[in-house]
Amino acid sequence: MFDEIRIEELEVFAKHGVFPEENTLGQKFLVNVCIKTDVSKAAAGDDIHSSVHYGNVCSYISEFMRNNTFKLIETVAERIAMGLLVKYDLIREISVEIKKPWAPIGLPVESVSVMVNRSWHRAFIALGSNMGDKNKYLNDAVSALDKADGCEVKKVSSFIVTKPYGNVEQDDFLNGVLELKTYLRPYELLDLLHEIENAAGRKRVRRWGPRTLDLDILLYDDIRMNEENLTIPHADMKNRDFVLTPLKEIAPYLVL
Ligand code: ADP
Ligand code: MG
Repeated sequence: MFDEIRIEELEVFAKHGVFPEENTLGQKFLVNVCIKTDVSKAAAGDDIHSSVHYGNVCSYISEFMRNNTFKLIETVAERIAMGLLVKYDLIREISVEIKKPWAPIGLPVESVSVMVNRSWHRAFIALGSNMGDKNKYLNDAVSALDKADGCEVKKVSSFIVTKPYGNVEQDDFLNGVLELKTYLRPYELLDLLHEIENAAGRKRVRRWGPRTLDLDILLYDDIRMNEENLTIPHADMKNRDFVLTPLKEIAPYLVL
């Protein structure tokens, strides 16, 4: 349940567009923003510092649009949404609409626009390693995730030594779980996990050998999805003590 702060039809003259003329001549853009936040603290204290200052938000948008040139208003809208989410801790969700009333499409249209919606999500990630300096692989993965754009590691469990699951003839695993605040969507998050795995794997792993690093999405908000490349909650997590024990440590209140 959130309150809303709205900005309507903020006018900015800028140079975004796919045509070269648009990048030199520039044109008018109109911006609409809806910020979902909780204003109760600001309202109770009648204090601007506990709210999201819409004047500052307008300045941020105007400056960003005038100081950058992109081909697509999709890009402009997404960058603004993500920039504001990161800049203001109080923003939980944001939608940014960029309108182009003078879009050079050669047809009479009042305006064209793109609207993007972005919000913070909470995910739990399982970490595992059974090769080389396992502790370092897991710690490096934690900091890589914390440094990644749109990600913030909120909690990390202890790492526990566990016996290999299913397969034979492998070294013991080191396992852990972390809680992540992220604006990445499930597939974007999966891509990021694969990038971090690859960066760790490339250093020393032989193909088909044991893993230096395995990162899995256990939970993502309350969503349930079952697609070819992504199942959330993670399939079979309920039967894996090496996941449940560290998960319980950092989120004892979770109902699975
Ligand atoms: P493991 O099942 O042992 O974790 P891999 O790490 O090699 O095996 O992952 C294989 C594939 O599992 C990934 O490429 C990914 O597409 C898919 N997958 C499905 N659901 C998930 C999830 N929740 N988290 C991570 N990967 C997932
Ligand atoms: Mg995996």
